[in-house]
Amino acid sequence: MTDDGRIKNDPYLLEVDGLDVTYHSQGRALAALQDVTITARPGEIIGIVGESGCGKSTLSAALLGLLPPNGEVTGGRALYQGRDLFTLGPEERRRLRGTEISMVFQDPLTSLNPTLTIGSQMLDVLRAHSPARADRAEARRRIVEMLERVGIPDPAARLRSYPHEFSGGQRQRIMIAMALLLEPALLIADEVTSALDVTLEAQILQLLCDLRDERGTTILFITHDLGVVAQICDRVVVMYAGRTVEEAEVTELFDRPLHPYTEALLASVPSRRRRGSELPTIPGRVPSLAELPEGCAFANRCAHAEPCCGEQRPRYVEVTGQRVRCHLYDPESGHANLRQPSAATTGRKEQP
Ligand code: ATP
Ligand code: SF4
Repeated sequence: MTDDGRIKNDPYLLEVDGLDVTYHSQGRALAALQDVTITARPGEIIGIVGESGCGKSTLSAALLGLLPPNGEVTGGRALYQGRDLFTLGPEERRRLRGTEISMVFQDPLTSLNPTLTIGSQMLDVLRAHSPARADRAEARRRIVEMLERVGIPDPAARLRSYPHEFSGGQRQRIMIAMALLLEPALLIADEVTSALDVTLEAQILQLLCDLRDERGTTILFITHDLGVVAQICDRVVVMYAGRTVEEAEVTELFDRPLHPYTEALLASVPSRRRRGSELPTIPGRVPSLAELPEGCAFANRCAHAEPCCGEQRPRYVEVTGQRVRCHLYDPESGHANLRQPSAATTGRKEQP
């Protein structure tokens, strides 16, 4: 049982298993996602963390069926309430998007139509997905209630305002209100707070936590900000070069990171403990999709790399309740310095 009374063993709402996504570009097949594995239970907030280009947006686009024309799901499955999203027809997929699975993007200006009032855009959302709720007065009441819920002052009067008449933070909250209008069971939030100041960020994070608590919404919270992950997430999935490399409860990940990349990522986060000392950075760079190695994608930057790391792709193995994709923890890998889980306590005790 979790602290707030939810059952840890609830069936999964979402189960992404071995997902591969390929982009076709200039005659080449680029593996943007490889063997991505993520699970989410009802009411969980899952942080999906990684550097720019690691495939976070590709993952959400694949789940929503919104990959660009040159992108293709080439392997794996994504079970939503037991149904594989990738085998649904376009109409069923469209129906799920909005009614059960919603997404909030990081840039509300590109997602809102500048020529339509907020009220009419929100009404369109209700009408498109839920004709039963399209009674005008009832729809208006729901929209006003939702705008109020996300903290838009005087919402009834603001229905006739255009997107440019709101502040950046308000637009972000309007996007969240739109995503929630149809009470989705799963919300994918892609870098929703990265453009906001700290006060607005705190408000949005609180809103997401309230949502989870009040409605049991499951949230995939995509971010590069480990501080935010520490604040609101239950579990964290770390991605590197299109692969899931570690998954753990949030406290465990911060106390005891297993993957050398997660260790390095945590070490590079500023903290009070390290005030005045230079922050370590991760040497080298993420390999481009065109130059991904056969074996571990982190091998060119890893202090623990051995010949087996360059040759064999690491398996995603379970280590005392965490999952990690690294030969150091796989007795079958042949790595000479296998780590015992208890020895892997190089993490920080202090969360950012
Ligand atoms: P960011 O945090 O910067 O948004 P991200 O983690 O969301 O990055 P993606 O946008 O999913 O990463 O991109 C993953 C990889 O796929 C990157 O190497 C990117 O260059 C590549 N990529 C994305 N879209 C395409 C496309 N349409 N065609 C070819 N390659 C693409
Ligand atoms: Fe480092 Fe090898 Fe583990 Fe990759 S598999 S993270 S190179 S030790």
